[in-house]
Amino acid sequence: MSNRNRTATLLQLCGRTRVSDSFFGHYMELVRNTMLPYQWEALQDRVEGAAPSFCIHNFKVAAGLKTGEFGGYVFQDSDLAKWIEAAAYTLMWHPDAELEKMLDEAIDLVVSAQQPDGYLNTYYIINGLDKWFTNLTDHHELYCAGHFIEAAAAYYYATGKRKLLDAMIRYVDCIGRQIGKEEGKLPGYPGHEVIEMALIKLYEITGDEKHRDLAQYFIDERGQDPLYFEEERKRANRGMHWANGPLKYQYYQAGKPVREQTEAEGHSVRAVYLYSGMADAAAESGDASLKEACLRLWKNLTRKRMYITGAIGSSAYGEAFTFDYDLPNDTVYGESCASVGLVFFANRMMHLDPAGEYGDVMEKALYNTILSGMSMDGTRFFYVNPLEVVPEACRKDKNKSHVKPERQKWFGCACCPPNIARMLTSLPGYIYTEQGLDAYVNLYIGNESTLHLNGREFGIKMESGFPWNGEVTIKISAKESLEGWGRIAFRIPGWCKSYVAKKNGRPIISAQVKKGFLYLNDELMDGDEITLDFAMPAVKMCANPRVREDSGKLAVMRGPLVYCLEEADNGELLANLRLSPSAEITATWREELLGGVMTLQSPGRRMISSWDEDDLYRPYSAENGYEENVTLTWIPYYAWANRGEGEMAVWIRKG
Ligand SMILES: [Zn+2]
Repeated sequence: MSNRNRTATLLQLCGRTRVSDSFFGHYMELVRNTMLPYQWEALQDRVEGAAPSFCIHNFKVAAGLKTGEFGGYVFQDSDLAKWIEAAAYTLMWHPDAELEKMLDEAIDLVVSAQQPDGYLNTYYIINGLDKWFTNLTDHHELYCAGHFIEAAAAYYYATGKRKLLDAMIRYVDCIGRQIGKEEGKLPGYPGHEVIEMALIKLYEITGDEKHRDLAQYFIDERGQDPLYFEEERKRANRGMHWANGPLKYQYYQAGKPVREQTEAEGHSVRAVYLYSGMADAAAESGDASLKEACLRLWKNLTRKRMYITGAIGSSAYGEAFTFDYDLPNDTVYGESCASVGLVFFANRMMHLDPAGEYGDVMEKALYNTILSGMSMDGTRFFYVNPLEVVPEACRKDKNKSHVKPERQKWFGCACCPPNIARMLTSLPGYIYTEQGLDAYVNLYIGNESTLHLNGREFGIKMESGFPWNGEVTIKISAKESLEGWGRIAFRIPGWCKSYVAKKNGRPIISAQVKKGFLYLNDELMDGDEITLDFAMPAVKMCANPRVREDSGKLAVMRGPLVYCLEEADNGELLANLRLSPSAEITATWREELLGGVMTLQSPGRRMISSWDEDDLYRPYSAENGYEENVTLTWIPYYAWANRGEGEMAVWIRKG
């Protein structure tokens, strides 16, 4: 029996919410019209000049439809799963018979590779089934299974078709026969998490407690003594790749039991996927100790280890977290996938215990790092999302070689593009949360939806000026009076210092703000119109002094958007620019630029010199440190690197 105190799952909310937002609607259509067809070609190795995927190839070989060897990474199957999942979400808001036919064919191919006992992973089907489940630490079998469960759930929910869902139920049965705490099974768990939250999603559809229990088992067993990964390593006489570095088994979040973990550690994508699964499991079971662990990890992650852009993962070494307040701008990892996972985690925390900060973090990651992960034409992608770039350094400094100054066509390890796709196509599911008696507005993305207060249905239609202005209009429709049903709560964004809330044109005077949400005391009726006007001035931001990399620097935000300086607008040597704390910043709409963006301008200073190029150091003098007045021009961070290669910086010297 579920303890979950919510009335709608993510898939249900996604299914009944239609986005009509001019900002995100554009990106969702870009994913549907450009990214998904492009990715489908990439999965079949038909994009010229892009790294081969081998994904479809592997399934054909595994299904006996062609001969050949396994190609690509051990987790290659997951790219197809993520593509199916992303495409499935689009069918919920844009039925498309042709796409559905492509999906059916892709699913036929996947299922034709499934073994009689339910097993389904092309790496081991091709390379020898006798070796299955012998390297849970690094071989991503359970990770790929998790992604296919997510795909199956989305496709089933979008179309009612059970083929992939039934195949995955058989695969989960196969996994459950091999892995678990019972005598004779392997007491293992995944090296790369995701199956935990996927199994909870499966449980929400099937109601089969063994799906929920397997997720709970993976979470509870993780990091227990004796450590499964260590036992597995000894059995196979393998080395431990991370043994000589600082991460060790915390690379996998497996160095200690999850309830004893207090800091976000290790590979950042794995971490947020695990935390998402933990929050899901805590919501299902009502397990207070697991909820406490989620809260501790959330606080550490968002208060001490998150970039202003919502990027996470400070180091390329292990694609991992490092230590509190260590947030280097130019060597950051900040993987697109990690920010997608951060949105998953925030959304699940919102279900656990509603608070505005969860919407704040979702908004931050979505409008900044996740959008920055794709080009404006939807065909190029960032894996790493830096806050400062000097292109030459990316090419010549090994320590920065993971940072690319321009988005890439496709990656051999192509986790990020399909992850961005599935995030954006499922975006309708993140706008609202139904919890207990109440309904919460998390994100101000224009849409029409059906929500419930205490189980009773009403309609909601939102128009939003985000992210360019803070004007939001919400119209309520209900067949009967909403009196006594429950409350609708509106997130007051953490960045917003003043706002005006009105009902039917009159200021709302009876309302409470609790944990970042505005709860109206007025009863709502059919036809009521709520308007919210969030003041959105440009704001200069500074970082906690413990963040050494940002010491003495300012960044600029306007509403949910973080801004950056680009060489295209400000010339080279961005490090020589500075911004006065008192400088006035003005906003200018530029329709022709980068698809239409609000740019920001302010007076600033640039250090110039008449120095010879061969003259490296001089005594300081007014002449040697001479600065001229300049106008600084900022663009939204998400839009950087769409005008050719050049320097970029989010943080700029203060003074
Ligand atoms: Zn990725």
